[in-house]
Amino acid sequence: MIPYGRQDIAAADIAAVVETLQSDWLTQGPAIERFEQAVADYCGTKYAIAVCNATAALHLAGLVAGLGQGDALWTSPNTFVASANCALYCGATVDFVDIDPATYNLSASALEQKLKSAEHEGKLPKIVVPVHFAGQSCDMEAIAALSRRYGFSVIEDAAHAIGASYRKRPIGSCEFSDMAVFSFHPVKIITTGEGGMILTNREDHYEKLKRLRSHGITRDARFMQGDIHGPWYYQQIELGYNYRMTDIQAALGASQMTRLDEFVQRRHELAARYQTLLQDLPLTLPWQHPDTRSSFHLYVIRLQLNKTAKNHRQIFEELRNAGIGVNLHYIPVHLQPYYRQFGFQAGDFPESEKYYGEAISLPLYPGLGEADQDKVASALKNSLT
Ligand SMILES: *Cc1c(COP(=O)(O)O)cnc(C)c1O
Repeated sequence: MIPYGRQDIAAADIAAVVETLQSDWLTQGPAIERFEQAVADYCGTKYAIAVCNATAALHLAGLVAGLGQGDALWTSPNTFVASANCALYCGATVDFVDIDPATYNLSASALEQKLKSAEHEGKLPKIVVPVHFAGQSCDMEAIAALSRRYGFSVIEDAAHAIGASYRKRPIGSCEFSDMAVFSFHPVKIITTGEGGMILTNREDHYEKLKRLRSHGITRDARFMQGDIHGPWYYQQIELGYNYRMTDIQAALGASQMTRLDEFVQRRHELAARYQTLLQDLPLTLPWQHPDTRSSFHLYVIRLQLNKTAKNHRQIFEELRNAGIGVNLHYIPVHLQPYYRQFGFQAGDFPESEKYYGEAISLPLYPGLGEADQDKVASALKNSLT
């Protein structure tokens, strides 16, 4: 089976991990600082905080943005459940904003409409989480303008989008947001096995994120109350978690960072090749907004079902049976059984539901060979014609 995504581990990555295993630090140590610095420098952001995965990163970002009971977080229904779950961890509620039919990202105009009616009802969100779907940036300038007008914070779920850019600025720069979150799960652009990171330009957010990552404990006298008992002393000043990343993982991440541009470049080459191979089939191929340069985490096609005799599921199953590990990103989150208990139902976010009925993610990763890619294209052709 040709998988839809796969990590790319080089000899230098293995050497970096082995070197850490032979060093004095296994959990948070010098490799964490190196990895955080590398990502912050790449994105042009002041601060980066490595954590154990992006789900934990979203949880901490929500807490630091002040999300709690009585608050609402809005996100896209076309995402992984973690983008929404982080609100529930904080005791807040979740609502969704339908997607743009061309980019499959949270629609800035749908957001504006929804904010207008929420303002009348006194139910404005505290946080909006735009998800850069497949690695293509949302319309961040429009979202940032709405955030100023309606007073919400913006946390970018950039799990797909390290190495991408928006108006020539790297995703993660936080030019149009309070914080941005990356994932280093093996199917994402670079990997640490499991891992995540929060980027921000705000020093107060940075200090709090560092504490919440490690039990709410500080060793910094500036944040302590009362006497400092001695050199062993620390204080827990709030309730935090153990969301640390290990140095073993960070060594892998820092090594992977040196190949980030190469990975994204290769994904672009493969995406351009798909474009040529698939252009005559009854498909909608990924559309790229001119303000964005995607990281191409995913290559999603949409079936033009009025031009095929088969249905979505049949075509999906035929591809799987032909050894193509296609996938589907995403089942609209509001249709998950867990979310239906909050009153969501079919028909609530029609663009995301229509998309779900037509979308298929094709294999795309740096190590995908051209012969395998040809096999994907011909399996698709066979199924569609
Ligand atoms: C992968 C992913 C996450 C969660 O990342 P983990 O590192 O696996 O916790 C969150 N949001 C989106 C959009 C993702 O694709």
